[in-house]
Amino acid sequence: MNKRDSEALAARLTGVYHYTLAASEEDADVVLLNTCSVRDGADQKAIGKMQMLIGQARVHHRQCIFGFLGCMAQAQGERLMTLLPGLNLVLGTHRYHLLGDYLSELVQGKQSRIVDCGGVKECPPFFDEHLMAANTAAEEEDKDGAAHLSPTAYVNIMHGCNQHCTYCIVPETRGHEFSRSIDGIVKECRSLADSGVKEITLLGQIVTSFGRFDIPVSEDGRSGFVQLLDAIAEIDGLERIRFTAPHPKGYGKDLVEAYGRIPKLCESAHIPVQSGSDRILKLMHRGYTAERFLEIIDQLREVQPTIGLATDIIVGFPGETEEDFQATVDLVRRVHFDNVFLFKYSPRQNTPAAVMPDQIPQEVKEDRHARLLQVVNELAQASYEQKVGATVEVLVEGVSRRNVNRLQGRSRCNKIVVFEGPAEWVGTIRKFKVTRAGQYSLYGEPV
Ligand code: SF4
Repeated sequence: MNKRDSEALAARLTGVYHYTLAASEEDADVVLLNTCSVRDGADQKAIGKMQMLIGQARVHHRQCIFGFLGCMAQAQGERLMTLLPGLNLVLGTHRYHLLGDYLSELVQGKQSRIVDCGGVKECPPFFDEHLMAANTAAEEEDKDGAAHLSPTAYVNIMHGCNQHCTYCIVPETRGHEFSRSIDGIVKECRSLADSGVKEITLLGQIVTSFGRFDIPVSEDGRSGFVQLLDAIAEIDGLERIRFTAPHPKGYGKDLVEAYGRIPKLCESAHIPVQSGSDRILKLMHRGYTAERFLEIIDQLREVQPTIGLATDIIVGFPGETEEDFQATVDLVRRVHFDNVFLFKYSPRQNTPAAVMPDQIPQEVKEDRHARLLQVVNELAQASYEQKVGATVEVLVEGVSRRNVNRLQGRSRCNKIVVFEGPAEWVGTIRKFKVTRAGQYSLYGEPV
């Protein structure tokens, strides 16, 4: 989400306010950090980085405007100003449409400090949605005519979340669910496809809830989200559709069937399970059981047997016993995920889980994390090795991150494939025979 928000804000600042992107932080007159607040480590990292940047500017007597955007800005507001003398701007997630105007005031010296995090807690829902609409309208404006250089792109389709998982700060920082219109999203996707984009990833905090308040279920039982997938699949030139982050409760019959019915919908799914213990899932307020999660996985595999599956898991949630943890290990073994994003629980301020009894000692979290990581890596390695000898269809995305003499792209089931080839291949879809498996990547030769 933050990557997409950063891209949209950069497009707006360069396109509408005529800023140019600096080559490095040292060359910049304005430095904005778009922050995440999901984990405590991310907060600390962002504050440390800003401290260092402000300090460096002081040492070199450089005039620079420093600002925090994003979830941490939303959650901490004025506190960041107290913590970091030299900081000029703190802008919450619902106020992005004001960024250009605020920067103008700071650049022109009309103000030296601005904190604006309004629009989430203190506003009634209708006002909150009004702000969201303003933000979204600005986003749609930004996309018109914006050049896109990569064959892949992210498109925000909704903001906020109403699920209120007890460990999560997102409902606090991003507010209520608010979906864009299907027409607006299709227009943006079409414009991206016209500029050469082949693959679009739809983004939202709980993407499968898209349109549930505004778009009636169709006569043939398709939710707003599946109607959106169908509408995007009609766009000429667009070859692949992905989405993140879904919620298991969004995997109704219509979405499962969509995997078999919409050829452009890639056979990959990153479905956060978080725990394999029903007791912990209930404490987390996730709204499903481990059995229901496994049922979804079986249904998806029935429709698309080669589907790539990834998930998110939190270990060490308050009250997690060894038995609960073992239930998670069992679920991981049963599903055989291709990838698992594994987190140690860290309490977030103002969340119910932060004050739950039976907080787990750090060493127990470390131990469970290490044990589960070993299982995850073993299973993932086996799943990658199984692909050796197979032919996979890859969208060539660019130069390999690890070796500039190679290119890389993603298979439909979302595995990174590395290969040798000319730069002209970037942006094309090609078939490769997998010759060997690395750790979380495949190596291939053109077929
Ligand atoms: S569904 Fe996701 S974004 Fe929403 S509260 Fe739960 S973890 Fe947070």
